[in-house]
Amino acid sequence: MDERTDYISWDQYFMGIARLSAMRSKDPRTQVGACIVDSKNRILSVGYNGMPRGCKDSEFPWGRSAIDPNDTKYPYVVHAEMNAILNFRGGTLEGGTLYVTMSPCCECAKAIIQVGIRKVIYADEWRDSEATRRMFEAAGVEYVQYKDRKLGLIYKVDVLNSLYDAQCRTCEPPNDKDRCDLCPMNDILACINKTEEVL
Ligand code: ZN
Repeated sequence: MDERTDYISWDQYFMGIARLSAMRSKDPRTQVGACIVDSKNRILSVGYNGMPRGCKDSEFPWGRSAIDPNDTKYPYVVHAEMNAILNFRGGTLEGGTLYVTMSPCCECAKAIIQVGIRKVIYADEWRDSEATRRMFEAAGVEYVQYKDRKLGLIYKVDVLNSLYDAQCRTCEPPNDKDRCDLCPMNDILACINKTEEVL
């Protein structure tokens, strides 16, 4: 019997793990996952966006706006890329590749550069990635968007998973409810069909 030929690629595997990690996030709007691997395709670390250890998910705010900025999620949430870097318990991340489900913000980009990660592969484009792009270019970090139709299965699980929140995967950025409300695809079934079409 010959070996299987329809197995998933390394890129599909690691982006799949990043997507699976994102599903652990408690953030009601944006779930992001990250997976860092070394040059020999060994997983070094994973992470998703969440509150720091000891800061209870049920007690800290998840909202995006409030009269007092300290009552929003922004001062507290650790981003997926940062968590993957901070969760690392090995020797070095130097020369590693980071897979992430959304393009990194400028703060994560700085950490990515400083720990020596040399390549970033992201799935969805976050709306404000200009500073990230500029820093990666200057620091020589390879920065590529990952587009692979075979990830459709994982996308589909993700879409089904987000049914409860009636989130839209086709909006830019994905999971932005404010945009979804305005989106002509805000009917969730239409959304799923559209997402399948896109895939
Ligand atoms: Zn970030």
